[in-house]
Parts: sequence; C-alpha cells; structure tokens
Amino acid sequence: MPTELEDVQKQTAAANRILTDLGLAVGVTSALGHVSMRVPSEPNKFVVKGREYELDALSEMQADDMVVCDTEGFKVGGRPELTQCSEIKIHSCIYKTQPQVNSVVHVHPRYTVLLSVLGVTIVPMCQEGAPLVRNPLKVYPHVKTIQTDEEGMDLATLMGSDKAILMQGHGAVTTGKDLEESVTAMLQLEEQARMNYLAYSAAGRDYPKIPLELVDAMSNRTPLHELPHFRDVLQGKEPQRGGIWAYRVARVS
Ligand SMILES: [Zn+2]
Repeated sequence: MPTELEDVQKQTAAANRILTDLGLAVGVTSALGHVSMRVPSEPNKFVVKGREYELDALSEMQADDMVVCDTEGFKVGGRPELTQCSEIKIHSCIYKTQPQVNSVVHVHPRYTVLLSVLGVTIVPMCQEGAPLVRNPLKVYPHVKTIQTDEEGMDLATLMGSDKAILMQGHGAVTTGKDLEESVTAMLQLEEQARMNYLAYSAAGRDYPKIPLELVDAMSNRTPLHELPHFRDVLQGKEPQRGGIWAYRVARVS
C-alpha cells in the first residue's frame, strides 16, 4: 500500500509526463518546466520535478524523481542526489500565499510566449479555455527566470488568485485545485494563444474576436441534468467529465 507521499509523487510524475505528451515541453523545452502538487495532509509541503537527473526531460519523470519542498522553497525530501528546480520559488510563493491552490504548472509554451513578446492580448477565439482568457491575463514584465524569494513573491503577488499569468518572453504559470485543473488550464491557454496567433497572421492585429457576451452565455446555462431529455439518465448528477484526465494519465503510463 503506497503512502500518501508516494501517491502524490506518482501522480505528480505522471502530470509532468503529460505536459510533454500534450506538446507543452518538447524539443528545445523538453527539460524546461515543472508541475507540482501540494501534499494534502501537510499543506506546507509540495512535490515537484527537480534537477540533477542523469536524463533530464519531463517525459522521463518517475515517482522517485520527484522532490519534496516546503513553502519557503527548501528541499525537505526526495533522493539525496537531486535538487529542487531552479525556479522553485514560483511554486513555493504561490502555495504560501494562495491556500486554495493545490497544483501549480510552469512551462514555456511557444505561442503563449510569442504573443507575450508581440504584446498581443490573448482573447477568446474558441470554446476551449474561453473563460480562462475572458479577461486579459496579467503579464510579469521580465524574461529572467524566477530564482530569488523577492522574484517569486513579485510574481505570486501580481498573479493573486488568477488561474493563469504570462511571463514576458519566458513562459506562463497556471494553478488549480488539483493536477487536472492546472495542467488543463495550461493546455487551454496555449490553444487560445495558438488560435490568436493564427488569427493575427491571417487578418492582422485587429482580427475579429468572439464577443464577450457570447463567452458569458457559454457559462450561464441551465445544468444538463435539469433538461427534460437528460433528467432520467443523469438522475440529478452533473455529467462525469473526469475520463479525459484518466485518458491522459493512461497514455503516459
Ligand atoms: Zn521558466
């Protein structure tokens, strides 16, 4: 029977592999980025990809490659030869200041980075992730990596309780109540960025956007289980949507 910590390490390693499977850490960014997860019974600790691996790529991460850190960014567990990742303060400062966050993702997604340099605001261009980019995302105005406590706190303070923030010419951070939510947010952010880039290329800087009232109308719906033709089959329950995360985990297992 695995311990809680072993289970968190296993889940977090799979989430790191999923980032590569989704194309968010490939090629030049194969080793860049990390997912972390807070330890449920010890909320001042979290599990994250580290550094000093013989083979360093997100696609290769296994449970015992994950290191344990505290909310000050110190390594408090994991194999002795490993260190925490250099940008550990991204994770520790967010966990310290945002108790509702249980998972943090940082990667360098190509289209998201490109738009942060072009100064093009990512707007809703398709359903997937439209609410995430409904309001303009904040941009941390530095290309340097986050290494000091001051840099980490600057980023965490600017981000606040937002679910995503851009880092100019560098990458992005997303958060969630669990691994599925934070990783999915990053996937949706990059998809919206890609769609914005395509629209920008096709139609110029003033390309058409989905009107915000149509985005809002997506969110304010009668629940499916309250509709007459779904009432019997759903029996008052929300539809089950977790299967896509189970699929992503299965693909990298
Ligand atoms: Zn980075």
